[in-house]
Amino acid sequence: MDKEPIIKLEHVTVRYRGSNKDALADFNLELNPGEFVCVLGKSGAGKSTMIRCLNGLHMPTGGRVYFLGEEITKFNEPALRKVRTNMGMIFQHFNLIPRLSVMQNVLTGTFGKRNDWKNLIGYFSKVEKEEALRAISSVELTDHQYKRVEHLSGGQKQRVAIARALLQKPKVFLGDEPVASLDPGTANRIFNLIQRIHKKHELVTLINVHDVTLAKRYATRVLALKDGKLIYDGSPDGVSEEWLSRIYDE
Ligand code: ADP
Repeated sequence: MDKEPIIKLEHVTVRYRGSNKDALADFNLELNPGEFVCVLGKSGAGKSTMIRCLNGLHMPTGGRVYFLGEEITKFNEPALRKVRTNMGMIFQHFNLIPRLSVMQNVLTGTFGKRNDWKNLIGYFSKVEKEEALRAISSVELTDHQYKRVEHLSGGQKQRVAIARALLQKPKVFLGDEPVASLDPGTANRIFNLIQRIHKKHELVTLINVHDVTLAKRYATRVLALKDGKLIYDGSPDGVSEEWLSRIYDE
C-alpha cells in the first residue's frame, strides 16, 4: 500500500502584493516519509516561498496545502502555529538569541508546545532540561552548553539551531539555505549531522541549498525551481551538466 504523503501542495500559486508575476505558479508537490530532499534554483526562483507555504508561514494566493492529510490552507493562525510545531526549521543566519546560552536557546525549541505563562517566566521542567541536554549532546556541543551563542563559530551556531529544532520533536525538518554562510568543510559536516538526525528520527527533510555537490551527496530526491515552477524532480544522479545549465542559466 502506498504511504500517505506527509505534505502535499496542490496547484499552489503565490503572487506577492505589488508583483506582476507569480512567485510560485500552479505548484504541485508531495513529500513522502523518509525523503531527504534538496532544492536547487537561482536566487528568486521561489525556494523560500515554497518552504513558507509548506509550513503555513505564508498563505498561498491559490491552491491547497495538506499536512498529514489535513488541509492547512483552511486553518486559522493558532491551528497553523500548532502545525508548525511539527516542523523544525533552520536558517542561513541561524535565528538564535546571541546573548543567551546554548542551553537557553535550545530550550526555546519547546515554546510552541507549552503554556504562554511558562514561556513568559522562563520556567523549564526537569524533563525539558534533560531533553535539551540530549539534543545538545546529539549535536556534540555538551562542552559548550553554558556558553553564550555569540561566542560560537558559525558551524556551532547552526548545530545549536539544529538542537533547538530537535526539541520540537518534529516530523519534518526544513532548512532555508542553512549552510550558505559556512565554509565548505563545515557545510559538509552540518549536512552529515542533518543526515544522521534525519535517519535516526525518520524525518522528512527538505533543504534549499546552493551547493550542488552537497545536494548530490546527501539528497534522496532533488527538486529544481525556476521562475516559480518545478522544472526538475528526480534522482540526484540525474542532475547532469545539461540540467544544471537549464536550472542556473538565464
Ligand atoms: P528564492 O528563495 O529561490 O531566492 P523567493 O521565494 O525568496 O526565492 O522569491 C521568489 C520571488 O518572490 C522573487 O521574485 C522575490 O523577489 C519575490 N518575493 C519573495 N518574497 C517577497 C515578498 N515578501 N514580497 C514581495 N516579493 C517577494
